[in-house]
This record gives sequence, C-alpha cells and structure tokens, in this order.
Amino acid sequence: MKLLTGLLAALLAPAAMAAPAAAPTPSLPAPDDGYFQQITRVGDGLWLIAQPQPFHIQPVGNVVVIEQSDGLVLVDSGGSPGAGRRIVELLATVSDKPVKAVALSHWHGDHVLGLSAIAQRWPKLEVIATATTAGHLAGKSMRAYPKGAPDAALQAAFDQRLDGIDRFLRDTLAKPELGSVERRGFERSQRLFQQYRIDTRGMYLVLPTRTFDDRLVLEDAKRPVELLHPGRGNTDGDLVAWLPRQRVMASGDLVVAPIPFGFNVYPADWQRALQALDDRHPALWLPGHGAAMRDDRYVRQLIHLIAASRTAVASEVGNGVARDKLKLDLSSQRGAFVGDDAWLQRWFDRYWTQPFGDAGWREASGQPIEQGEG
Ligand SMILES: [Zn+2]
Repeated sequence: MKLLTGLLAALLAPAAMAAPAAAPTPSLPAPDDGYFQQITRVGDGLWLIAQPQPFHIQPVGNVVVIEQSDGLVLVDSGGSPGAGRRIVELLATVSDKPVKAVALSHWHGDHVLGLSAIAQRWPKLEVIATATTAGHLAGKSMRAYPKGAPDAALQAAFDQRLDGIDRFLRDTLAKPELGSVERRGFERSQRLFQQYRIDTRGMYLVLPTRTFDDRLVLEDAKRPVELLHPGRGNTDGDLVAWLPRQRVMASGDLVVAPIPFGFNVYPADWQRALQALDDRHPALWLPGHGAAMRDDRYVRQLIHLIAASRTAVASEVGNGVARDKLKLDLSSQRGAFVGDDAWLQRWFDRYWTQPFGDAGWREASGQPIEQGEG
C-alpha cells in the first residue's frame, strides 16, 4: 500500500486536527500484536518474511527470499530502515549467501524503505524495478523522501506527518463511544506507530540500478526467476516474480490479504493482470501482505471482488453520481474478506471501498488515474 498519503487521507478526518488530548506515551508493540516480521520456509531454497498478524493500518510489506547458486534474490525490502535491519538478521538465520539482487514490486514505502539497511550490509546488490517504478521512486511520487542518504529537513517533515497520526489516534481513543474491538485496534496502532517512528529514523531511498519494461530473467540452474510486468494493476509499474520450475508467484500488492488495498489502482487492468497470473496455475502464491497461499481460492475471491466493485461503480456512474458523492455498498463482498470483525470492517471500507470507488469512478468516467505521493 502506498503510505503515508493514502493512510493519512483515510485517517485524518477534520476532527483529527483538534488539539491533542493529554495521554501517556504509548508503549512499543507487544508480542501478540504480530507486528515484527518472521521468516518462514515455504519451499526448497525459498522463504517468506511476513508479519504474523496480516493487517496493520501501517503495514510492512512482505519480502520473498529466493536462493540462487551465487546469492539471494529478494522481492521487496520492508518498510523502514528498522524493518530492513531486522530482515538482514532474519536472512542470516537461513543462509550464508549474500543478497545479490532486490526486485521492487512497486514504489510504495512499505516495500522499498528497508532497502537502505539491506544495501548497507550488501553494498554490491542490484536493485531491480520496472522503468515506471524507477521513475516514481526518483520523481514526484517519492519527493518527500531522501535519496541515497538521510536528510534532516525531509526527516523532520516526515516526523510531523507522524505527529498528525499520533493526534488522530489519541483523539479517537478519547471517544467514549468507541467499541471494545476497535479500541484494542487503535491501541495496537498506537504501539505500532511508536515503533514506526523509531524504525524510520535515518530513512532514505536507494534507487534502482537496473530497470526493464516487460520481462527480465535472472538465470539459475535450480531457481531461475522471471521478473514480469503484468500490466497496470496495484500501480502502473507493478513487478511480479515467477519461478517457472517451482510454479511460485510472488505477486507484490496485486494480492494482499486479508484486506486488499484500493488506492490509485487500475481496476480493469488489474482484473486482467490477476487473471493472467492465475492462468499460469501457480502452486504457491506469495502475496504483498499476508501469509503464503497454497491454492488460488483467495486470488479468485479477489478477482471477483474487483469485478463486483467495478459493476457497483459503473451503475453509480450510469446514474450520474459525482465522484465525491459516491457511496458503494460492498457489504455483501466484505464479509468474505473480514467476516464480522468490526476493526477489519472499518478498514475494509477505508482501504478498499472508498479508494477503489474513487479509482473505479475515474476509470468509468474516462478520467486518468494518477499515482499519488507516498
Ligand atoms: Zn504494500
């Protein structure tokens, strides 16, 4: 997901700008928050680094680890220097080989900001992305982030945005009417942002050293990796990694569980791209967030959600509903993703229904969908 802008837009209602209530400083994540990433072997020479609890309002993107004869290939890098340092430690528990390449699935911060720590440990690694993603990383989308080295002024501006989130969380928790499930969720989020603030200190982007448009193969005797741009979907420059011998698909945020992200997506292209990936019949899906999947049940559910959401938007557009008046009712689809969990329902509406509605409205109205700023 693209954070923080999407997150801030979803979080910050006008009331959030009120003066902060006096509150104790929240503590750091507890073990049962499921925040810190863990490494799991998902195949021979193949691991997934993922958060044990799959949904957080500021998530850390998954990292896929593929062992080749002369080093490790990673897909994505975590969402902060702190997460990147923990990834370096996790890698040391499974392999002595160096990281030789990191392929970035897309430009969003929760997938690229751990790279600085990984590149400090293995300075010779290649950074691979589509040319479109490389353009976003170097350009307007990520202009708020330092490039190549930390930057005090940009860091201070970033920390101010985190202050806004802190205020929002404190104000929300001060509301007596908040239900107990949501209260626990917001308290967990407070702990998460304490850690995120520490983890993002000294952050900077490492820019790609190698780009491609459609396909790039990293040859290997045992585990060749095809890096593919399947068309626009989650962003306009998505990269997926396909292991043809093992039939493994590392999808980036084209597949996210339990709540897919709908910010500035390309609905029709995404549905097509996902179907084309499913047509390869992967034996294992490694999503951008969430656990490994041994069948395509969730992917088909997601394709269905995109289709149903597009239909709902098209009907509103057909009735002449303006973009800012759009109100989609996806409650019948929502249950399949988040059940009756009030916390997850809230965020399904904010991270899927609302942003997807916005993108879908633009698509159905023939307006361009722009990648935002991270
Ligand atoms: Zn993400």
